Amino acid sequence: YDHGAGVVLPTVYERTTAASIAAGAINLGQGFPDAEGPQWMRAAAAEAITSEAGPTNQYPPGIGLPALREAVAAHQQAHYGVELDPSEQVLFTTGATEGIAASILAFSEPGSEVVTFEPWYDSYGAMVGLAGAELRTVPLTAPDFRPDLAALRALVTERTSMILLNSPHNPTGALFTAAEITEIVEIARQAGAVVMSDEVYEHLVFDDAAHTPVLSVPGAEEVAVAVSSVGKSFSLTGWKVGWVTGSPDLVNRVRGVKQFLSFTSAPAYQWATALGLGDDRGFFAANQEQLQRTRDLVMSGLMEAGLRPYLPAAGYFILADVSPVTDKTAAEFAVELVERAGVGAIPVSALTLPSTQRDTGSALNGMLRFAFCKDDEVLDRAMSRLDQWI
Ligand code: PMP
Ligand code: GLN
Repeated sequence: YDHGAGVVLPTVYERTTAASIAAGAINLGQGFPDAEGPQWMRAAAAEAITSEAGPTNQYPPGIGLPALREAVAAHQQAHYGVELDPSEQVLFTTGATEGIAASILAFSEPGSEVVTFEPWYDSYGAMVGLAGAELRTVPLTAPDFRPDLAALRALVTERTSMILLNSPHNPTGALFTAAEITEIVEIARQAGAVVMSDEVYEHLVFDDAAHTPVLSVPGAEEVAVAVSSVGKSFSLTGWKVGWVTGSPDLVNRVRGVKQFLSFTSAPAYQWATALGLGDDRGFFAANQEQLQRTRDLVMSGLMEAGLRPYLPAAGYFILADVSPVTDKTAAEFAVELVERAGVGAIPVSALTLPSTQRDTGSALNGMLRFAFCKDDEVLDRAMSRLDQWI
């Protein structure tokens, strides 16, 4: 991770969005849905802002509105059977991003090591760098991107302060099994490290597979915090309502940092998110069904264009190997794709260590990430542009 460059440059997501707009391309780079989230949640947020319904527009409690903390606990109970005390085990954060940042700052000292799987979500590398810690990685490899737990065990030492787990995984779409997550927790326990589990894609799981929350596995209570948010589950990525859950002690340590990052944020969105978590009115199932369809549409489109896509079990991204159609790296190919084919995609190398980027043998340098959380008609157009240009 290049600390200086990471702080100064816009993220790869923003750069791809800007390049797509400049080229008039279809943006399958940054992950945000075309379709807006539930109308009734948006109406509830508007109502909370403009009427006497719900909270005032003044500072809500730093740990979050009580209604939101209770709804997060009730949602975990209803979906996973995980019991949480809303007053001590649920912390509101400004998006999962703040929960990730506050957890990394809370648990990783300068000079310590943080271990995660590679490729990763970009804020992990940036925050580990800002915390003065060092990122160590275990590569996930095609075609199924299963975590290599022997390699993880070998990398975790007494210097390890945290293991960053992300399941469902961005960008590979891998869904870690209960057995894998249990073993990761055990590895952390033995090393005296904390596990931060990023579960923002918890409701975007396909083909009747099931998400395993870290807090449902044995031993997790002592060492793990989980992070999730409204953005992916309800297609409301701009709302930035997130939450951290775990034992009172660990959550309190994250709170200690979080209070000096944002302190708090918009009560209306917390209020409306609580409503959705309490009863999603069928949104999760309908969204899952729609995404599974667009996943399959993009899988066949990418195959027809000659790329080698890998079927994701969850999330809203597909990784595809570009080496069947070009000798260029995926990063170079992405520039041509946006400018000449009119389709924006994320080179996976932007989500890896510099040493991996320099490694000509790494398959990750030949992969692009395509988002499929878009309207059918947009995806159809993008796929035929690829097919024609490649
Ligand atoms: N973690 C992962 C794996 C993500 O893909 C994202 C992007 N939504 C986030 C965290 C950030 O979530 P939020 O928008 O709630 O900050
Ligand atoms: N989570 C989204 C993605 O992975 C975008 C997040 C962002 O733009 N920071 O594409």
